[in-house]
Amino acid sequence: MNIAILYQLFLKSTGVSTDTRKIEPGNIFFALKGPNFNANEFAPKALEMGASAVVIDEIAYFEEDDERYFICEDALTCLQKLANYHRHQLDIPVIGLTGSNGKTTSKELLHAVLKTTFKTSATRGNLNNHIGVPLTLLEIPKDAEIAIVEMGANKPGDIQELCEIAEPTHGFITNIGRAHLEGMGGPEGVLKTKTELYQHLRANKGTVFINSHDPILANMIKRFEDPILYPAKGDFCEVSFIEANPFVKFSVEQVEGEHLTSLIGAYNFGNIANALTIGKFFGVPMEKAVEAVVEYKPSNMRSQLIEKRSNLIILDAYNANPSSMEVAIRTFGQMTGKKHKMIILGDMFELGDHAEAEHRKLGEIVSEYPIDKVCFTGKLVVSALEKAPKALYFPDPFSFRNWLQDSQLEDYLILIKGSRGMKLETLVDFI
Ligand code: ATP
Ligand code: MG
Repeated sequence: MNIAILYQLFLKSTGVSTDTRKIEPGNIFFALKGPNFNANEFAPKALEMGASAVVIDEIAYFEEDDERYFICEDALTCLQKLANYHRHQLDIPVIGLTGSNGKTTSKELLHAVLKTTFKTSATRGNLNNHIGVPLTLLEIPKDAEIAIVEMGANKPGDIQELCEIAEPTHGFITNIGRAHLEGMGGPEGVLKTKTELYQHLRANKGTVFINSHDPILANMIKRFEDPILYPAKGDFCEVSFIEANPFVKFSVEQVEGEHLTSLIGAYNFGNIANALTIGKFFGVPMEKAVEAVVEYKPSNMRSQLIEKRSNLIILDAYNANPSSMEVAIRTFGQMTGKKHKMIILGDMFELGDHAEAEHRKLGEIVSEYPIDKVCFTGKLVVSALEKAPKALYFPDPFSFRNWLQDSQLEDYLILIKGSRGMKLETLVDFI
């Protein structure tokens, strides 16, 4: 199918959709396939709901006499090509970002900073995969001055594919950690996959921003001609960490004073430094950048603070992997403010062969800190007990809830963290 023709149709549409449940009148519907569905079947439904056209890829569903039907070889490839075509109509900086942890937080912070000065378009929510990135690109308005595109990966090659669609001109990696180890083929696979973004930028004379605090990324500095470094002294942008108790406080050259944010945990310092550096690079006045960071409030479950009677809960149940667990535990270990401390850790998923060793390591890390109550819940986290034998262990959420309810905790600082599938946020009601 001719992408230029489809693009003309796109310009007249109200946008694209891949989900009949969220379709809006005037959308172009792309019939994608998944392991358990074939959206070619939903084409009539999409039209019924007001779609102006449907792009399908199976002849059996093609209605020759209905000019709203477009057939192509593969609807997903067609969506990606359309997105890339739109990308080419935009002569603006496109900032690509990836990393093991903190992508969405960094993206939101950077968006907050850039939009103080430029018309900025950024990935909505977490739409960061081979479908989300095209959708993100197609949402960039014609008058945008800068775009930010979050890129996620499950396996080697994913980031390269997303770079070919989004063609970023600038980019950064938040950090290289131990996430999605199963699909990535271990830590080397993570490094290879994430650095596909830097390789793309190098090949296309793009601008690379490097977090010199990340030991692995710092090692790569010499591979690039003119990387923009942050946050250490003498770097392009000097930002200093002051404390995280629990909120991050920082200082920055140019704007006097200590700046208190609503972001919990020392690990958020890198995300903040990212946003300030790139803001500075594009010419956002530092006062405005600092103000945007200070005013930023993290969204649901990404390190949220909840008060329950005399207890203060840090709910970080959005996701978890070995590196984000480690920094969360270490930050929590140093926090003060309540008489007692309790940590609740759940399973980390998608670790494959590394699961047992990585959960065992959690036990080792928590044991380094004086925490009154250590609780593990889930099937995998049982191996943490080996290194933390005094911890309480609840294989299922029901027994844990009962125990929490009976305990009537008072004056506790509590950290809750586990993979999304553990739904640990449901525990809060029982504290
Ligand atoms: P996803 O892979 O789901 O897109 P993400 O990389 O976008 O995740 P965020 O959604 O920003 O990450 O943050 C998820 C959680 O990761 C946070 O709640 C926090 O626990 C942790 N986190 C955020 N930033 C960092 C960081 N710089 N280093 C380590 N952990 C972090
Ligand atoms: Mg994300």
